[in-house]
Amino acid sequence: MPKDTLPKGGPVPCSLSIPHLDRPLHIPHRSRHIPALDWTPHPGPIKPEWQALAAQKGFRVHSRIRDRLHLVLACMICGALTAHHLHTLRTANPACGGCQHRARIETAQAAGLTFLHRDPESRHHGFYRAACGHVLRRNFGFIERVMRGEVDIRCEDCLQLRDAETARKQGWTLIDRDPLGSDNYRLYQHSCGHRQRVARVNMQWGQVDCAKCGSSWTARKSYLYLVRLTWADQGLSLIKLGYSANPAKRFRHQLGLDSSAKIEVLRSIGLPTGHLACAIEKKLHADLRKRFPDQVIPPAAYAGLINVVTEIYHPDLTGHIRARLDKIARDHPQS
Ligand SMILES: [Zn+2]
Ligand SMILES: [Zn+2]
Ligand SMILES: [Zn+2]
Repeated sequence: MPKDTLPKGGPVPCSLSIPHLDRPLHIPHRSRHIPALDWTPHPGPIKPEWQALAAQKGFRVHSRIRDRLHLVLACMICGALTAHHLHTLRTANPACGGCQHRARIETAQAAGLTFLHRDPESRHHGFYRAACGHVLRRNFGFIERVMRGEVDIRCEDCLQLRDAETARKQGWTLIDRDPLGSDNYRLYQHSCGHRQRVARVNMQWGQVDCAKCGSSWTARKSYLYLVRLTWADQGLSLIKLGYSANPAKRFRHQLGLDSSAKIEVLRSIGLPTGHLACAIEKKLHADLRKRFPDQVIPPAAYAGLINVVTEIYHPDLTGHIRARLDKIARDHPQS
């Protein structure tokens, strides 16, 4: 799936470290392609006329750089150095890279994000780390709207992980966005190999029939399970409550766990259909979130370790969840 990720070649610095300057040099977007080595001192006097213009616009001319047409301007507010074309100083209001950078950091913070760096491809976009741990590329104006509470930031990575997890539970694999372009549909592959479009909401509720092998959601046995996941090397132990149409032996693959994770199935109960398992599981999660909000582990704590973004709890809830599963098993005896 196409998505916004970090550009190839790693993060792009918003400023350069130049040997002859005592502070980082901020570079406007349009000059980003100039190699750091080309920002060398340029000889010659600084004209009083330039100093006067700079002072009017909140700067002091620090020095000349690169060629006869470029200046280093020092901001009178923050002291940061920014390279500007003489023409910009004459005809426009030069921006201070330092003030801009700080504003982006502060706006991101107010929007609940961490500003990482500008997008080298677009002067209107930057890369941010969201609370979930994923990296998002967003328009600077959009982040300001998030800060003002006008829009919500939605993480496509989390959405995709949720969709993939939902599909796995039903014995399907999320393949791609809808080939016909609907936001409400996705392309999935059944365990038999057949691919078809399915409405997201139907996949969420386990109401999906495979058009090829005829496997029907009304007739498929499913399992509610509680597993303990331990990463001994990181001193991390979590529990996950979920349901799956597939046997528990596939947990490692389904949850994207590497060999450092220890998996213990604490309780597993069979239910006659995926639809019923799904309905009971959703209710149980909603109830746990409401009654034990402190025991719900935020996704940032396990990002990169397991490919889900919800349904992870503190091990202190083990006894309670076990008891709830025991009751569900009593209410739905298997023949
Ligand atoms: Zn400044
Ligand atoms: Zn995310
Ligand atoms: Zn099938």
